[in-house]
Amino acid sequence: TQEKTDFLEPLYRESKVKKVIGIVSGKGGVGKSMTTSLLGVAAMRKGLHTAILDADVTGPSIPQAFGLHERLLGNAEGIILPAMTNFGIEVVSLNLMLEEETQPVIWRGPVVADVVKQFWGKTLWKDIDVMFVDMPPGTGEVPLTVFQSIPLDGIVVVATPQELVGMIVEKAVNMANMMNVPVLGLIENMSYIKCPDCGKEIKVFGDSHIEEISEKFNIPVLGKLPIDPKLTQACDAGLIEDVENIYLDGVMDIIL
Ligand code: ADP
Repeated sequence: TQEKTDFLEPLYRESKVKKVIGIVSGKGGVGKSMTTSLLGVAAMRKGLHTAILDADVTGPSIPQAFGLHERLLGNAEGIILPAMTNFGIEVVSLNLMLEEETQPVIWRGPVVADVVKQFWGKTLWKDIDVMFVDMPPGTGEVPLTVFQSIPLDGIVVVATPQELVGMIVEKAVNMANMMNVPVLGLIENMSYIKCPDCGKEIKVFGDSHIEEISEKFNIPVLGKLPIDPKLTQACDAGLIEDVENIYLDGVMDIIL
């Protein structure tokens, strides 16, 4: 209604986002959404006004991790009110716009890009210090169009030890270079698992090659996340903000 628009317009024009960081991976299932959530929590714990823009249409991981299920509110002009997590992180997600959470999303790149542009430009962000964008996985058409539709200040690349040996990470780094977006750092996920009895760290996927990649491309290593059942359980329960050890505490000082 007109009344609602009058109320939203001035707020919309005042909304600001200071820094936008994309989280990318060479393929799906490596923990990109997990890392995005943890970076959001790390920023929030530093007292930063934090937002997460979920542009990964392959699954509702971000809303799930924070226990968000209500559909986003918007008006006729396409202005959107972000969802708010328990600890005050503002979230928008394609998955919070679907009629049915269980429907597969089969949109092509340009359609995803349109929605992401709307998220970027038409959400009532409230003076955000840092926004993390959960990018679609891979280096194909969909991630590329999303790259072009948001003014990213930098990206963080997430990979498992397996990808760090092959060319997948290099492709992601090259895509960022092509787009003139700086790569702020690398995060190795599922790096090891800690034995609950003796504390020994077991490298399930073999030795880490993250330092070699880091040297080759001159990109800092931001962290190594173990496989931690506490993280999985917290995501499943929608309580990722309650996890004590998120392994990424020092990262904000490097990337901001
Ligand atoms: P992607 O976004 O790359 O597709 P997700 O972040 O959705 O991957 O992770 C895939 C699955 O693995 C999820 O169920 C997630 O909870 C779990 N997971 C990811 N990283 C870890 C980790 N370090 N420890 C435990 N579980 C993890």
